[in-house]
Amino acid sequence: MLADGSLERTATQLPPEERYCTCCHKALKGSLTWLEFDRRIDGYHDFGGVPVEESQGLFVFGKTCAKKQEDEARRKLNEWRFS
Ligand SMILES: [Zn+2]
Repeated sequence: MLADGSLERTATQLPPEERYCTCCHKALKGSLTWLEFDRRIDGYHDFGGVPVEESQGLFVFGKTCAKKQEDEARRKLNEWRFS
């Protein structure tokens, strides 16, 4: 979680070398999303509740990729919970 608790940032607030989507490596121009890497499911999401020892920190994504990552993470988390 960032200092003010917000996971929303715009690309211009990032240093140039970090303005790339973690997923597709495209340059980010507009708004972007920070997702946390959850080692339990090997995936990214911002649902919270990741144990500190299982979190790899926050990574930046474009809107479209963030949604894809979260859909996948939601599915993986469901499998993880019931396994
Ligand atoms: Zn992407």
